[in-house]
Amino acid sequence: MTVSVVLFTSDLRLHDNPTLHAALAAADEVVPLFVIDEAIASAGFATPNRRAFLADCLTDLDAGLRERGGRLVVRTGDVVEETRRVASETGAGEVRTAGGVSGYAAGREERLRRALESDGRRLHVHDATLTVLPPGAVTPQGSDHFAVFTPYFRRWSQEQPRGVLAAPRSVRVPAGVGSVRAPARADVSGVSEGLAEGGETAGRKRFADWKRAGLATYDDGHDDLAGDVTSRLSPHLHFGTLSPTELVTRARRAGGSGAEAFVRQLCWRDFHHQVLAARPGASSADYRTKHDRWRPAESAGEEIEAWKAGRTGYPVVDAAMRQLRHEGWMHNRGRLLTASFLTKTLYVDWRVGARYFLELLVDGDIANNQLNWQWMAGTGTDSRPNRVLNPVTQGRRYDPQGGYVRRWVPELSTLAGAAVHEPWKLQRAERARYDYPDRLVELAEGRDRFLRARDKG
Ligand SMILES: Cc1cc2nc3c(=O)[nH]c(=O)nc-3n(C[C@H](O)[C@H](O)[C@H](O)COP(=O)(O)OP(=O)(O)OC[C@H]3O[C@@H](n4cnc5c(N)ncnc54)[C@H](O)[C@@H]3O)c2cc1C
Repeated sequence: MTVSVVLFTSDLRLHDNPTLHAALAAADEVVPLFVIDEAIASAGFATPNRRAFLADCLTDLDAGLRERGGRLVVRTGDVVEETRRVASETGAGEVRTAGGVSGYAAGREERLRRALESDGRRLHVHDATLTVLPPGAVTPQGSDHFAVFTPYFRRWSQEQPRGVLAAPRSVRVPAGVGSVRAPARADVSGVSEGLAEGGETAGRKRFADWKRAGLATYDDGHDDLAGDVTSRLSPHLHFGTLSPTELVTRARRAGGSGAEAFVRQLCWRDFHHQVLAARPGASSADYRTKHDRWRPAESAGEEIEAWKAGRTGYPVVDAAMRQLRHEGWMHNRGRLLTASFLTKTLYVDWRVGARYFLELLVDGDIANNQLNWQWMAGTGTDSRPNRVLNPVTQGRRYDPQGGYVRRWVPELSTLAGAAVHEPWKLQRAERARYDYPDRLVELAEGRDRFLRARDKG
């Protein structure tokens, strides 16, 4: 009997999983393994929202494997040591895993390769599992990655993605492999009230429903804050309960301008992944430094706290920050304008905002989060690094009836229409009826401070 260990990481699915598919083809028996990695917990990355979503994913993966005659083996500890142990307990000749892009994933892969090789076993890393194209699959002349999105998108669109793989019909797992109980969502405290359900089953249902009802209107509607018509698939893409290759293939098959716009967003995801794979340091250091001297926590501390709490006095910023806390997710337009507000209007270091987003976002992802923060802070790949988003203009444009603000800022729910974006314009007596904070800073003042600082940079 030959045995292959499949180490699941950010690919918690049975459909279109090249790693699992290859293992089933290579060996008689397969050990589907997930290691609850102590290093991720001690790095502070295992936050309640992501732990709860992960618990759903593991429960669902186990159920899917059981329907096929197998089960999920769960271990806790050092991912390399546990994988090595499972491989030796089962006499596996090989371990297969998906290729990751972060510095952490690269280090894990390297350690695992060395450990297995010293035991006489092989590690196979499967690219094009977490992204549509593996990082480095397309490069511009003279560089190891694309630093500008549009040419990347052009090249990326010319490539044919690999074929979509069916879920296996059966999975044979060797008898007697020890496993700890998979965590349950109920075990996790501090979870956002409106957190979405995790797992491949929920993800596939979400995509099928959205493809029917939302894909066609995505192009026109994706920036409409109140309309909320984006796919909300980001947590599923983060945990790999859905495959980006399958999404691109099925969206293209559906066709239309909505599908094209959706595929373009998925390309943004690949874009950031290939930047991070080439420059892992960009998770914490400026990708293109502007020599910022961000305001120190001593002087900006209260403003940072007000931003986190959704009490800046700018209703659309506050609405988005409260959505984040309530759902562990935020609309993309909200992410853009809250990030601009923190880094430009308040001139606070993007790392402060990125860290807070990572605490709460269920889709919190090193590639997408850190590089989008850098994009908005103007230290990343944006070709207009000094653009400042005006939250009043943004509110009026992307929430023209004010419905998004009224949903998330109940103190203002009786203010009709777009007036909700500028409560400071109300007559004094009327303004006094709303228990809502005054503006932290005048927009023009914030903008000038930022532009002056950048000028000196
Ligand atoms: C400051 C900031 C922080 C962000 N942090 C994250 C994060 O931690 N994790 C994350 O997945 N996305 C992040 N994004 C990108 C984007 O906001 C979310 O992916 C998107 O809002 C998720 O909602 P959706 O699934 O409905 O997206 P849709 O509009 O339906 O798009 C489909 C998919 O395309 C991908 N996508 C869309 N926009 C982007 C983008 N700008 N960059 C990369 N991929 C994109 C996502 O995987 C998304 O699920 C961030 C954006 C900003 C501005």
